[in-house]
Amino acid sequence: MLGEQLQKLFNFQELEKESEKMESALKNHPGKKELLTLRKTIEQAETSYNQRCEKMEALKRELARAELISRELDDEIKMLEKKIYSGEIKTMKELSKLQEKQNVVRKSNEENDDKVLKLMEELDELKKSLSTEKQEIAIMKKEYNQKRLKTLEEIDKIKNELERINKEKEQLMNNISSELLDKYEKVKKQKKEPVAFILNGKCSGCRMDVSVMVIREVNRHEGLVYCESCGRILI
Ligand SMILES: [Zn+2]
Repeated sequence: MLGEQLQKLFNFQELEKESEKMESALKNHPGKKELLTLRKTIEQAETSYNQRCEKMEALKRELARAELISRELDDEIKMLEKKIYSGEIKTMKELSKLQEKQNVVRKSNEENDDKVLKLMEELDELKKSLSTEKQEIAIMKKEYNQKRLKTLEEIDKIKNELERINKEKEQLMNNISSELLDKYEKVKKQKKEPVAFILNGKCSGCRMDVSVMVIREVNRHEGLVYCESCGRILI
C-alpha cells in the first residue's frame, strides 16, 4: 500500500517538474521578446517616416513660394522690357537705368530659378526614400503579424499542455494521502525534487551511498524512509 502511494508520489513529482518547465517556457517564451523588439523598431521607423513627411510638406510649401516669386519676377522683366521698347524713353540715362534694373531683376530671377530646381530635386529624392521607407514598414508589419500569430499559437499549445498536466496532477493528488503530500511539501521547501529512488545503492537525489539498513527499511514499506544524507523521501 505504501509502496503504491510512494510510486504515485514519485509520478506526482514528475508531473510537477513538467508543469514547472511549461510555466517557465510560457514566461520566457522568446517570441514575446522578439515581438517587443520588432514593435519598437516599427514605432521608430514610423516616427521617422512621419517626421520626413512633415519635412516634405514644408519643402512643398517652400517650392510653391519660390514658384510664385518666379512668376512675379518674370512679370517684372516683361514689364521692364515693354517699357524699354515702348518708345516712351527719351533719354539715354533713363534707358540705362531701366536696363540696369532689368539686369538686377534677371539676376535674382536666375537665383530663384536655381532655388526652384534645387527644391524640386530635394523633393524628388525625399519622395523616393519615403516610398522605400513605407515599403519597409509594411514588410516589418507583415513580419510582426506573422510572428505574433506563430507566438500565440505556440503559447496556446504550451497552455493546453499545461492544463492537461495540471488535471493529471490533480487526479493523482486525490489518490495520495494528504499526510504523505504534507511530508512531500515539507521536504520540497529544502529540495526541489523531494522524492528519490535508490539506484546501485545510491540515492538518486544526492548520489550518496545508502546504507544496507536503509535499503532494507525502504523495501519493507512500513514507514517513510528519508535519505540520511539529503533528507529526501526514498522509494
Ligand atoms: Zn540523498
